Amino acid sequence: MPFHAGAQHWPDHGDRHHWGPPWRQPVASSRTIEAGGARIQLDFSPGPLDLPPAAIVQWVQRAARAVTVYYGHFPVDRERILVQFVPGQAGVFGGTTWGGVDGFPAFTRIHVGQHTTVKQLVADWMMTHEMVHTAFPSQVDSHHWIEEGLATYIEPVARVQAGFLTAAKIWGDMVRDMSQGDPQPGDEGLDRTHTWGRTYWGGAQFCLLADVTIRKQTGNRKGLQDALRAIVNSGGTINTNWPLTKALAVGDEATGVTVLMDQYNRMKDTPVKIDLNALWRELGVEHADGGGVIFNAAARLASIRRAITRAPKAADRQ
Ligand SMILES: [Zn+2]
Repeated sequence: MPFHAGAQHWPDHGDRHHWGPPWRQPVASSRTIEAGGARIQLDFSPGPLDLPPAAIVQWVQRAARAVTVYYGHFPVDRERILVQFVPGQAGVFGGTTWGGVDGFPAFTRIHVGQHTTVKQLVADWMMTHEMVHTAFPSQVDSHHWIEEGLATYIEPVARVQAGFLTAAKIWGDMVRDMSQGDPQPGDEGLDRTHTWGRTYWGGAQFCLLADVTIRKQTGNRKGLQDALRAIVNSGGTINTNWPLTKALAVGDEATGVTVLMDQYNRMKDTPVKIDLNALWRELGVEHADGGGVIFNAAARLASIRRAITRAPKAADRQ
C-alpha cells in the first residue's frame, strides 16, 4: 500500500489515537458528496459537535470547490475523508492525507473540535491544504518539501480563485510568512535540509518563484497552474509514486519552458536565498499604512501578480 507519509503535518499535534491506522477508526455516520466530478465519502467519527452536521458538509464542499477551480476538476475521482470530533476543543487541526487506502485514491483524516464555530470553518485553510495533497504524486522523504510547498502555496491561491479570499489577504500573508523558508546557516538545499521552515515555506518559495518565472518566460501565457494541471491530467496524483523529476518534466512539457527542472537542479542541494523584498516590489505588493498590503499597478510584474490569482476561464477547465 502506498503510504503517504509525505503529507503528514509536522509536527502532528492532534493525533492521540495510536491504536491501528486512521482509516480503521470507528465511523458513526457517512454520506457521499459530489464535487468537481469526484465522489467524496465523508465519514464522521463518534464524538460531540456543537454545530449541525451540515456545517461540516459545507466546509468540505467549499474546500473541494477551491481545488476544483484551481485544477479544473477535483484531482482524484474518489476520496474518503474521516472527520474526528474532539471533545472540549475548538477549531480544525491534525490533518493528514494518504494515497491509495482501501481502494480510495486518497484518504484524509482531520480533526474538528467540539466547539468549532462556523466562523472557524469558513476561515479554515487545512481542508483545502489536504485536498491539494491529492494533486501530486507521492514522494520519498527527501522531496517532502515539494508536497508541503505546493499545498502551502496553492491553498490560498485556489481560495482566491474560487472567490473565498481576497488577493490582498493572501499577498499580505505571503509577505508576512514567506521568509520563514529562507535557508539558515548550514543549509544544504531543499532535498537535504528537512526543517519545518524549509519544508513548508522553502517549498512554497520554490512554487512562488517557479510560478513567476514561468510567467516571465512565457509572456504570462502559462503559469505553475498549467504545469500542475498537466501533472494531474497525466495521472500524477497522490496514489502514484512518480520520481520527482518525472513530475517536473511533465509540468515543464505543459508550459514549454524548463523552469521547474532548472530551478530544482539549482535548489536541490545548494542553499538559494531568494530576494523576497525585490520580488514583492517587482510584483507591486507594498506595505500599507496601518497593516496589510496595497498593490502598485505600475510595478513591472503587476500583470503576473494579477494572473496568479485570476480564475481560469471556464472554457480552460478540463
Ligand atoms: Zn500538508
